[in-house]
Amino acid sequence: VVDLGMPNRTVLTTCAYCGVGCSFKAEMRGNEVVRMVPAKDGGANEGHSCVKGRFAFGYASHPDRVLNPLVRERITDEWREVSWEEALDFTARRLREIQDEHGVGSIGAITSSRCTNEEVYVVQKMVRSVFGNNNVDTCARVCHSPTGYGLKQTFGTSAGTQDFRSVAAADVILLIGANPTDGHPVFASRMKRRLREGAKLIVLDPRRIDLVRSPHVEAAHHLPLAPGTNVAMINAFAHVVVTEGLADEAFVAERCEGWSEWAEFIARPENAPEAVEEITGVPADQVREAARLYATAPNGAIYYGLGVTEHSQGSTMVMGMANLAMATGNIGRDGVGVNPLRGQNNVQGSCDMGSFPHELPGYRHVSDDAVRSVFESVWGATISPEPGLRIPNMFDSAIDGSFRALFVQGEDIAQSDPNTAHVHAALSAMDLVVVQDLFRNETASFAHVLLPGTSFLEKDGTFTNAERRINRVRPVMPPRTGMHEWEIVAAIAERMGRPMSYTHPREIMAEIASTTPTFAGVSFEKLDEVGSVQWPCTDAAPTGTPIMHEDGFVRGKGRFVPTTYVPTSERSTRRFPLVLTTGRILSQYNVGAQTRRTGNVAWHPEDLLEIHPHDAEERGIGEGDEVRLSSRVGDTTLRATISDRMPVGVVYTTFHHPTTGANVVTTENSDWATNCPEYKVTAVQVQLRTGGD
Ligand code: SF4
Repeated sequence: VVDLGMPNRTVLTTCAYCGVGCSFKAEMRGNEVVRMVPAKDGGANEGHSCVKGRFAFGYASHPDRVLNPLVRERITDEWREVSWEEALDFTARRLREIQDEHGVGSIGAITSSRCTNEEVYVVQKMVRSVFGNNNVDTCARVCHSPTGYGLKQTFGTSAGTQDFRSVAAADVILLIGANPTDGHPVFASRMKRRLREGAKLIVLDPRRIDLVRSPHVEAAHHLPLAPGTNVAMINAFAHVVVTEGLADEAFVAERCEGWSEWAEFIARPENAPEAVEEITGVPADQVREAARLYATAPNGAIYYGLGVTEHSQGSTMVMGMANLAMATGNIGRDGVGVNPLRGQNNVQGSCDMGSFPHELPGYRHVSDDAVRSVFESVWGATISPEPGLRIPNMFDSAIDGSFRALFVQGEDIAQSDPNTAHVHAALSAMDLVVVQDLFRNETASFAHVLLPGTSFLEKDGTFTNAERRINRVRPVMPPRTGMHEWEIVAAIAERMGRPMSYTHPREIMAEIASTTPTFAGVSFEKLDEVGSVQWPCTDAAPTGTPIMHEDGFVRGKGRFVPTTYVPTSERSTRRFPLVLTTGRILSQYNVGAQTRRTGNVAWHPEDLLEIHPHDAEERGIGEGDEVRLSSRVGDTTLRATISDRMPVGVVYTTFHHPTTGANVVTTENSDWATNCPEYKVTAVQVQLRTGGD
């Protein structure tokens, strides 16, 4: 322990982990962080924080940081430490050579939800205005892309409806596929406060998460549905609403469209709780009681996580929840709504900034001539009207040989994406992989160029949290690498013939505001003055919009969409009789690249496999035994922990450690609309490892 003495300055900034977006005061002595103190006036956290955020500064000064650019011709070569000039020249030259040889569409980029809005914006701008295609995607592809699709189809905008504060007015909270005490701890505290005041909780989750029963909080209903049956369950809830006369007819008549067709669909006998009981495994009378509780609440609020989106019907489920909220009039005021709990600090922002291959900033389709012309006049470049490749398409095209080079901004796709063997094959097949990151992560093993990235303590810009709140990220020290990430991208663009003439990220935000209507009123100056704003921030709403769809939906009328349940093709078999589902723990964050390099790692140094006592006994597995986890695509080894939190037949693990590599076993299955991977349902076998096995 180094005693740094008393702090002599303070910088207000934002946590770089989860989608809560807590504000912190970094107390500094010189260029060293003495401690991080949650800010009392932080809009998202009001003086609270979790263990991840408080110790986050540890990874910024970790000796594993890559501080100088590294280059190699082949991935079997040793890395060469080179100057920034040489690394940038090499990158730009190779990108152009590959395009000249293999075509305009042979290169692309992935943006990061851990980078600032400004850093993300310049990457998608580079792809569209310099690469000349729309081959840009975001790591949100593998988490909340169904949220973007489903909420846009039903409400007209790809974002949650409420601010966090709104939960204080909820009477019934329907929590689906989320574990906020581990994933979003500061928001979980707000939710628990409301539950202690008397609000009722309904949990839809195969696993008995802490909120089902914890000190002073007990859920009114826990419906432990079988993995992959969300849509059958939400349809059963809606069936009860429609057939028992619980719909808010006035709201529906005034605010929505598509009711008749949807109501006829949802009232069909196959959607009744009794009909889906065999599918979900949850008794029909429990479903009826829970549905009545939500539907008759003065204010019913839905909160959800990746247990909704990471399924073959992720987008369908998002629309199913939107249908239920509209049918019961639970939209457009305090205490209600449909609210995604976003995983990463800037997953909302990375999507807002045009990281999808079919959408320019502000979720506007690339085929829209008027929208393209706005960006073409500002960027001085022609933009292709053709959507580009999604991440899975990039991988498939790399194996086919048509996609040859990838720029990866702060994402460890070799560990985080499903079906690891397929991802590794795709990366190995590419002529050029450029990784911009803090560490030599798993993806860097396949890279030809490693451009050192900056930690949140060195960044200057904005993050947008799960409630659409745009927070300032202020640098507490200059970049340890010598270059900001937006400068790196601008330097590559310049070398490829199209300079970006920014001198400061505030100018990038000014460009975003000038081209993207929902950000029209956002500037660094305003954020410094008012603290934070929630988009849309426009002339009509100069201080932002905490609650959306108050008087009308963004698309005009809310749209009911029939949501037919289609079972996943991933079924347990004699060879793979169990179902694996995955999640997070409190002290670790995603693939652990950051938290494993802080004091947090001491608490959970490995991923564990949770298995029900019955399934463990059948296999002769005891607490702490090493087990082999296998699926039809791969296998890995990890230690078992026996727990009745899981139903019989379902096992659970986390994906924080590369040595375990849970994604070695997850498959290529994905959401029908967005290709979000089906991480939550994998047929597996678990066997006790014996000596030499
Ligand atoms: Fe807040 Fe999330 Fe950071 Fe914890 S990890 S301090 S909840 S933003």
